[in-house]
Amino acid sequence: MLTGKTALVTGSTSGIGLGLALGLARSGANVMLNGFGDVASARAAVAALGGRVAYHGADMSKPAEIEAMVHGCIAEFGALDILVNNAGIQHVANIEDFPVERWDAIIAINLSSAFHTTRLALPGMKQRNWGRVINIASVHGLVASAQKSAYVTAKHGLVGFTKTAALECATTAITHNAICPGWVLTPLVQKQVDARAAQAGIGDEEAKRQLLAEKQPSLQFTTPEQLAELALFLCSPAGDNIRGVAWNVDGGWVAQ
Ligand code: NAD
Repeated sequence: MLTGKTALVTGSTSGIGLGLALGLARSGANVMLNGFGDVASARAAVAALGGRVAYHGADMSKPAEIEAMVHGCIAEFGALDILVNNAGIQHVANIEDFPVERWDAIIAINLSSAFHTTRLALPGMKQRNWGRVINIASVHGLVASAQKSAYVTAKHGLVGFTKTAALECATTAITHNAICPGWVLTPLVQKQVDARAAQAGIGDEEAKRQLLAEKQPSLQFTTPEQLAELALFLCSPAGDNIRGVAWNVDGGWVAQ
């Protein structure tokens, strides 16, 4: 149980982040949400589980806003014990066609934001000598796919950052680990399903089938709930000495 602990989950208004926030709240943690879009529904869903919930609208590409969010979390709840770096975006294009602005945004949101939240969360975690930092990387932190240069670069970087942070905290009770999902059916992936359907002139179900068949041998999407269970395991005492791993949950994607 995480009663009395406070979790900050970036990008938690939808998809995987919302699933992780719900799992943490269900385990008793106070939760600070972050992200854009339908904030009210996300907030209501987490609040319905009975714990304390707050929200900060920091743009994860802006270090000053990230700083305000971390300080706001500590001011609201008195601590930041569990940091989940989850906010992320995608853009699919060949390198020579890749918009420079999209490259910069992906590196900032998917990679640099984790450096900023972590550097700001660590002093408090060290003071209390307990902490969990969970970085939502991707199978694309372990292997590449064409047309995803910025995303693959950022996610490989996030896995490297996770290992470094784990070493720096190795003699403390603060652990840093990465979770590396394969395909999870969230708005981020639905966009890629829609693009495939439009390009090939096929329906939604067939586009999903083809997407999975290309990379994910189980032919099933991983769910946010399954990822939340792994995050909770990493937060439990069983996770005390799990440090610097990049744990794929990918239906066999990187086993090939
Ligand atoms: P999603 O689009 O459903 O959610 C992304 C979240 O990030 C949303 O809450 C959004 O508002 C927020 N966000 C986007 N830009 C932001 C910004 N600048 N500042 C603050 N918040 C911002 O996507 P998802 O699929 O749930 O992805 C979540 C994470 O999981 C991402 O890091 C993604 O790379 C990773 N991931 C997803 C999959 C998948 O198959 N869906 C697989 C591997 C890894």
